[in-house]
Amino acid sequence: MKITAIETVPYAIPYTKPLRFASGEVHTAEHVLVRVHTDEGLTGVADAPPRPFTYGETQASVTGVIEKIFAPQLTGTNALAREQVHALLHRTVGNPAAKSAIDMALWDIAGQALGLNVSTLLGGWSDRMRVAHMLGFDAPERMTAEAERMRDTYGITVFKVKVGRRPARLDLDVCRALREVLGAEAELYVDGNRGWTASESAAALRELDGLGITLAEELCPADDVLGRRRLVRQSPVPFVADESATTPAEVTRSLLDGAATAISIKTARTGFTHSQRVLFQCEGLGAEVVMGNQIDGQLGTVCTVVFGAAHASSSRRAGELSNFLDMSGDLLTEPISITDGTLAVPDGPGLGVAIDPEKLGRYRQDR
Ligand SMILES: [Mg+2]
Repeated sequence: MKITAIETVPYAIPYTKPLRFASGEVHTAEHVLVRVHTDEGLTGVADAPPRPFTYGETQASVTGVIEKIFAPQLTGTNALAREQVHALLHRTVGNPAAKSAIDMALWDIAGQALGLNVSTLLGGWSDRMRVAHMLGFDAPERMTAEAERMRDTYGITVFKVKVGRRPARLDLDVCRALREVLGAEAELYVDGNRGWTASESAAALRELDGLGITLAEELCPADDVLGRRRLVRQSPVPFVADESATTPAEVTRSLLDGAATAISIKTARTGFTHSQRVLFQCEGLGAEVVMGNQIDGQLGTVCTVVFGAAHASSSRRAGELSNFLDMSGDLLTEPISITDGTLAVPDGPGLGVAIDPEKLGRYRQDR
């Protein structure tokens, strides 16, 4: 089965409220839908969400690198020969979202060809994941109200709190208010997106420790090498590398250098193939993982739950699977939904989802 074309469709869907965090903010999902076509009539699909503030990609760069470099290189290649495909993609540096979308679309094709869901192909551990909801920067009372609404509407009891503002007092007050409002049974963890120095982070961790937080993510920059190492050594909870360890090699360096003791896996930046490499080396080294969210829409969220539910170690913690709730629309024929605090892997071969042409027509920007 040969690849005949790789199609890119830029689209834009506004968020109902902007998402704010220490390294940036997002008002509209300006993503690229990637479709890989084959000579046997099967088409694989995946989403590429460009994140210029983290990886330097834009909607135009994703479309450009696929049209100018990847599509000409991959046309004619066996769609099931992922190692050959990755050898070709590897000739170009960077572009993680563009490469990952192609990788996941190829897994979608493999699943469809075999009549199996990709989650089964990857490992088949579970049919669902618990959901963690991310709370972006806002006034404390609005953040606690959102957490209560998520708990009451969707049964979510795990919350990732964005921190890293100055003064840190504001974020610490938010965490304290959340613990008061949600009670002892809620799980809380924090993500600083490198907003604090190592010393500021250490002071914050001392206060947060009394609130029973379970993970601390990217509180200070990994490039502050010695400060970060010192912080990680004294952290009472697993210290998560996210944007500082985005490839299997960076994950190795990060864990061995003492820059992290846990890893955030995002299928939007390592696809399924490299996400497995990251996961398996974390298992080998004894580092925990959390399934992260690259501010994904429904299609990206499906990819995250397909991967996360496939393995015991990637589904142990709740996955960050709820950012799509803030979008004003989406592209799937059958929208996904969170019930009892969990998200199910869609049934059916491949990714188990289909793109609604009418919805795509509403949001696509190339016509
Ligand atoms: Mg993060």
